[in-house]
Order: sequence, then structure tokens, then C-alpha cells
Amino acid sequence: MTTAYPVTEHKYDVIVIGAGGAGLRATLGLAEKGLTTACITKVFPTRSHTVSAQGGISAALGNMGEDDWRWHMYDTIKGSDWLGDQDAIEYMCREAIPSIVELEHQGVPFSRNSEGKIYQRSFGGMTTHYGKGNALRTCAAADQTGHAILQTLYQQSLKHHAEFFVEYFAIDLLMEDGECRGVLAWRLDDGTLHLFRAHMTVMASGGYGRCYLSCTSAHTCTGDGNAMVLRAGLPLQDMEFVQFHPTGIYGVGCLITEGVRGEGGFLTNSEGEHFMERYAPTAKDLASRDVVSRAIAIEVREGRGVGVNKDHAYLHLEHLDERLIQKRLPGITETARIFAGIDVLREPIPVIPTAHYNMGGIPTNIHGEVVTHKNGNPESVVQGLMAIGETACVSVHGANRLGSNSLLDLVVFGRAAAQRCVQLIKPRTPHKTLNRNLLDKPLSRFDALRHAKGSRATAEIRLQMQTVMQNHAAVFRTEEILKEGVQQMRTTRESFDNDILIRDRSLTWNTDLVEALELENLLVQAITTLDSAANRTESRGSHAREDHQQRDDENWLKHSMIWLNDSAETRINYRPVHLHTLTDDVESVPPKQRVY
Ligand SMILES: Cc1cc2nc3c(=O)[nH]c(=O)nc-3n(C[C@H](O)[C@H](O)[C@H](O)COP(=O)(O)OP(=O)(O)OC[C@H]3O[C@@H](n4cnc5c(N)ncnc54)[C@H](O)[C@@H]3O)c2cc1C
Repeated sequence: MTTAYPVTEHKYDVIVIGAGGAGLRATLGLAEKGLTTACITKVFPTRSHTVSAQGGISAALGNMGEDDWRWHMYDTIKGSDWLGDQDAIEYMCREAIPSIVELEHQGVPFSRNSEGKIYQRSFGGMTTHYGKGNALRTCAAADQTGHAILQTLYQQSLKHHAEFFVEYFAIDLLMEDGECRGVLAWRLDDGTLHLFRAHMTVMASGGYGRCYLSCTSAHTCTGDGNAMVLRAGLPLQDMEFVQFHPTGIYGVGCLITEGVRGEGGFLTNSEGEHFMERYAPTAKDLASRDVVSRAIAIEVREGRGVGVNKDHAYLHLEHLDERLIQKRLPGITETARIFAGIDVLREPIPVIPTAHYNMGGIPTNIHGEVVTHKNGNPESVVQGLMAIGETACVSVHGANRLGSNSLLDLVVFGRAAAQRCVQLIKPRTPHKTLNRNLLDKPLSRFDALRHAKGSRATAEIRLQMQTVMQNHAAVFRTEEILKEGVQQMRTTRESFDNDILIRDRSLTWNTDLVEALELENLLVQAITTLDSAANRTESRGSHAREDHQQRDDENWLKHSMIWLNDSAETRINYRPVHLHTLTDDVESVPPKQRVY
């Protein structure tokens, strides 16, 4: 294979796959400490999905009223429906404060309050005094926070001489003796193949929202990193937990930020009723996302949906001050105009719960190091491999992520991963020899797909997969619906394996082949999501089983870990939830729950 496909070799101390918020924060932290760093990305860095994050990034700065990182920690644990690892949550909420101050100093143009401090808005599930008051904790740059962060981190990374390999598509990890040695990538603009070798490979490739028909994620969110990890024989964690955002624009899926409700917006049904008052009398429209999404789904199911088909809800901003909307919510004003033909000053926006975020992903410890269940130890570190950002499952979001905690997760764990690399790797350490036969398997897969001569186009199979996910792994689930979904997804995958057609056989700018590789990646995540969801017989966070409506801590207070073999068969095992904090006396923590 390596003769058919000449492969150019590159050597770095560290490679980062992905240039979203997580990848760029890690790249910056590595480059500024003098580690030779390559950041590989399939899209131009500032086009990564992070650019579209609107509402903001949480941190208990207390700029707009009293706040404390412990209250933030409490909210995050509660929001996670107790599935989040408490040591990791403690780390994130505590480190949020210096991480945001760093971002500010690096140049992120945050909005300001009247005292000139970073402006902070209210977001769902964020409280003071352990649930008693409403916290103003989400730092925002108008409603374009992700855009502001991404631009700043990219500029800072360039300043510190990080090297970027833009429009390179990572195909597979190279694993030898259980250790990650680097990655094989395809350069899209000239068709050449590249082997990137590193002492540490940091996966920062984002989520897999595109498994669903209606999602808020960019077309590039195909979870390639998750799929590479599965193919490397490693597990994914908590894949059953997919967050539905309550306010995607009806029919197109584009996001209308929770910041709208944070600024005073509210939802109504066909009777004009402010229905969240019934479901969450205290938090109302700012209840956590799983609660609001389920409320909309129930209103629609009970015949109180709006529109011709009575299948969605309305989000109102018309009552808000026009100047506030122009100042704090300019982006969604434009989005609503372009995608729904709505003038938010005069009409409500039609909205529907839409797949938004993947709580599950590659299991890691608080340093970003990937862990697996090995020799009875569910905390075994996989050498040479890290994961950060939405592709990772640290797990700080547990069964349900609170709004504005993802951007925080990106910068806190991007920073932590870089710090860990600095501890572990001496700059310019020579590389071990690598068995070049390792390239055969990924190159054969690539070559077979490139020459596939079936009868079905990628778009056709992708639509089939997305429809199955939309109908069988949505807000409400039952055993019957999930099991049917599992069957249909296997048929879809077989159809991909046996019948996919690639029309373009070239190697330069072959978007046909790129989309097929992405679809192959999405399919394994669809299978692991459905299988994990069918396996978990309780309701927790975003996973709402109608046939098991209660949370069942006795049997299910544990993370699921799922492996997939070459024949698409899955295997599930479990990992304990870390119920201890970092500050607990370590001796009181059972060995298997400790983080080393
Ligand atoms: C519309 C929207 C609004 C949001 N708003 C907020 C918000 O206000 N606050 C908040 O906290 N969270 C928000 N979120 C969630 C948050 O933005 C995402 O979880 C986060 O941006 C993910 O960042 P990331 O760095 O992990 O990945 P991404 O930003 O998705 O970047 C992934 C990177 O990986 C690269 N990549 C992927 N596959 C490959 C491959 N095979 N080869 C090479 N490179 C590859 C891509 O090129 C890209 O650079 C929002 C999400 C969406 C979709």
C-alpha cells in the first residue's frame, strides 16, 4: 500500500487534531512552552464549529452580583444529573476563573458592564447559594462569543509559531503496542498522504451532531476523532447522552441561543400560554435544556403545538427593548431573518428541540489523557493519546450539559492538556522507530473506499442514517423504538459497506470521498449511540426513557463504555462515576475511582 500511496513523514513533539476552541487552546499552550507543535485541521481554523457559539462562556467571576465557583460546581453536578465526575467538575469550575482572565488578556473582546468589567448574563441551571438565587455567570462577547474566542486563540497561536496544516483530513490513528504514535492524514488540496509522528496526539475534533437530520452543528461535525478511537480498539463513553437544544429554528435547525431567554425571552404554545411556568415554576424558561426540550415535546404531543402542523413552539423577544436586542443579540436577529424570515422585533421565532451537543465521547482524566478499561482498571491511561473538547468525555457534563459550560470545557481542558504535555515531554526528544506496516490497514480502507463501485450515493445513505437517528434516538425513547433503530442502523451500515458508490476517483479536492469517509465515521457513532441508549434502562439527564421513567442510581450510577469491532458488533462495560472531589482525602476514595 505504501508504494501505491507515497507517504510524507513529519515529526513533532505534539500534534493536535482540530483547530476549534479546544484544539487552539491546547496548541497555544504547547507552542508558548517551546514544544514543537503541529495543528492539523480539515477546515480553516476560524471556520471550526466553535465559531458559531453564541451565548457565552461560564465562570464565577461575580462581576454582576455575588458568585462563587463552588456554586458553579454544585449547578454543574446537579445539571449533569449526578453522572458528571465531581473531581473534574471541581477542576473546571475552579480553573474557569484564571482561564477567562487569560482569555481576556490574550485579547478576547468581551462585552462590558457599566464598571468596565466583563459582562455576564444569566443561563439555564446557573444559580447562587446552591440553588437559591439566579446567577449572572455567562461571560459574553455580544452573541458571538465563540467567534471572538476562536479568532483570538488563532492569532495567539500564530504569534507563538505553532504550525498549522490546514485542509488536511486525519484518517486514522497509528497505534503500536497499545500506544498512540501519531496519525495518517490526507492533504485535500494536492491529494498527498502524510504521516505525522508525535510523542502525544491530542484529539480535538469536535462532536458528531451530523448523525441527526435536524441539528445545530456545522456540516463538518462528523465526530471523526470518536470514530478513529473506536477503530483503534478503544472505547467511547456515555454515548447515549445527546443534548437536544430546545430552540433550534423550526425546519432548518439553526440555533437560537439560550442567551435569548437569559435576556428575558420566553416560550409559548398554541394557546399563547407561557407553558414553562407549569413545568419549572422557579426556573421557568431557564430550566436546564433537557427539561425545556421535553416540555416542548410534551406540548406538541398533547396538541398544543403551533403552526400548520401544530408541531413546534414560539420563542418571543418582541417585548424586549429594541436597543437591548441590537446590543446583546445582533447575531440571532440576523439568523432569524435569514433562516425563518422573521423580524424578531415584531414576531415570535418558530422553534423545535434540535440535536445540539454530545455529552459522550472519548473518556479522559482531568489532564486530558485518554483512559480505557484494562486489566480490571477503568482508569488505565492510553499512552500517547489525549482528547479534549466536545470529542472528549472528561466527564464534566455527565448526562446533560449546562449552557455555556462547553466553551469553558474547551479552554480549561485545552489548557490542562498542554500543561500535562509540558510535564511529560522534553522538547525535541527523538522518536522511537515506527513499524511502517502500521500504515497498511488505514491505507487499504482509504483505497477500498476510493474505488467503491456500489450503487448508492453517500448523500442517500447519510439521509437514511439521519432519519433513523431522528426517529429512534430523539428526546423520548423506548426499548421498542431503540431496538428498531439498532436494526435499521445495522442495515444502513451494511448498505454502506456493500453498496456505496464513489464517482470521483481522484485524490485532489475529492469531496465525494471526504463525505464518504465522514459518513463511515458517523455510522459507527450512530451504532454506539443507539446500542448504549438501548442498554441504559433508566431516565437520566438527556436520556429520557418512557419505559423507565425514573433515575435508577442503584443500578445505573455509572458511565457506559462501548467498544466496536470490525464487524460492527458492540461490547459494553462500565466505569464508576467519580463521586469524590479533588479536595477529598484521597485515602477515603476507593482505588478504582482515583485519578492518578
Ligand atoms: C450553534 C452552536 C452554538 C453553541 N453555543 C455555545 C455557547 O454559547 N456556549 C457554549 O459553551 N457552547 C456552545 N456550543 C457548544 C460548543 O460551541 C461546542 O461544543 C464546541 O465549540 C466544540 O469545540 P471543539 O473545539 O471541541 O470542536 P469544533 O469547534 O467543532 O472543532 C473541530 C475541529 O476539528 C477539526 N477536525 C474534525 N475532524 C477532522 C479530521 N478528520 N481531520 C482533521 N481535522 C478534523 C475541524 O477542522 C475543526 O477544526 C454551541 C454549539 C453550536 C453548534
